[in-house]
Amino acid sequence: MYDSVTSSPLKKVTILGATGTIGLHTLDVISQHPHRFSVFALAASSNVTSMFVLCKKHAPRYVVMLQEESAKLLAEQLKNIGSKTHVLHGQDALNFVSAHEEVDTVMAAIVGAAGLQPAMAAAHAGKCILLANKETLVLAGSLFMQAVNKGGATLLPIDSEHNAIFQVMPKAPGRQTGTLASIGVKRILLTASGGPFRNASLEELANVTKAQALNHPNWVMGPKISIDSATMMNKGLEVIEAHWLFNAEADQIEVVVHPQSVIHSLVEYIDGSVLAQLGNPDMRTPIAYGLGYPDRLMSGVSSLDLLKTARLDFVAPDIQRFPCLKLAYDALKAGGTAPAILNAANEIAVEAFLAEKTGFLDIPNVIDAVLSGAILEQVESIEHLIAVDQQARKATQQWLSSH
Ligand code: NDP
Ligand code: MG
Repeated sequence: MYDSVTSSPLKKVTILGATGTIGLHTLDVISQHPHRFSVFALAASSNVTSMFVLCKKHAPRYVVMLQEESAKLLAEQLKNIGSKTHVLHGQDALNFVSAHEEVDTVMAAIVGAAGLQPAMAAAHAGKCILLANKETLVLAGSLFMQAVNKGGATLLPIDSEHNAIFQVMPKAPGRQTGTLASIGVKRILLTASGGPFRNASLEELANVTKAQALNHPNWVMGPKISIDSATMMNKGLEVIEAHWLFNAEADQIEVVVHPQSVIHSLVEYIDGSVLAQLGNPDMRTPIAYGLGYPDRLMSGVSSLDLLKTARLDFVAPDIQRFPCLKLAYDALKAGGTAPAILNAANEIAVEAFLAEKTGFLDIPNVIDAVLSGAILEQVESIEHLIAVDQQARKATQQWLSSH
């Protein structure tokens, strides 16, 4: 099939995490460009209700549900409406739709370490990967970047900060083999909104509720990343993400709290120039940039009204109140398996907080305890990392059940 406007073939897209916030935004942008994209596959875990609606609207060739029961239920519902979509299930099926020879672009938007294997499959198969799932880089940065380069994949960051940096950087991620200095870059400035508790005292943080933590002031996001934003672990994960994407050392990445979320990040060059990308906080901008790259596409995002914004504020992050940020910097500097342990401990701690089984300040406490108790190793293989991830999850659960 050809795009009648540009007369180039339609890009076939697989969306991993289709029922999530990023997945739905991606489908929104794709729907605005029916002459450019066709939905090849949609994948999620268990949300049959939402997936059924998406399949009806986008008629993908394949749909994958991680859970077998969910796949069965969905298959029945799709059969009843005469749908031609093939319903698959399980981990291998996620990898299959990520690496399928007909697929051009894979939106990697599963949440957490679960996103690693299909993202690796897309990398090995040389796809254009739109990476929202930052946990892939935190857990397995070196192996993932190797797979991207070896597989000849194109890696485009979707996380708004990294997408902003990419837009003002001279070279694409994974294509840059030299240091930042070799391309004239002095440092990267990652902006952070500060989350819902930017001005909360430590005493207040000790008692915050799940509902308060989920209520982000600027962005609409899934539950896990919303809690990560509230603890500022999200920014910590993004520091590690920036390290791998842009070949930046920890001391070349600075976090600046910018409550308005209008400047999405900045790059300082050695001549004193500082380039930034601005826009309304709406993930459809970075998603459209990734989908259309190197072209620019309409995204449906409204124009930035600078007069209405009126002011842009900047403050330094406070690591006393938000120790997760320091834990992430420390894990990056320690290297080896430390970021994988940090990520696993964080996922379990956030899950426990979302289940209202642990307090907000126990999130950094347990991550710190698990990292301090772990023996750090060099990363050997994906299997090794998965074992480390599992071990760290167990250690976190043990700490949480004994405190
Ligand atoms: P959501 O929680 O909204 O969505 C998660 C998606 O992943 C759902 O489709 C869910 O399916 C699916 N999923 C979860 N576990 C599995 C699994 N084991 N196998 C297959 N699918 C699975 O998350 P977000 O969209 O907010 O975030 C997705 C990723 O993007 C995260 O890594 C996040 O850090 C990153 N990101 C998000 C941003 C945002 O603005 N939301 C901004 C920058 C990065 P189901 O519905 O069936 O459970
Ligand atoms: Mg971000």
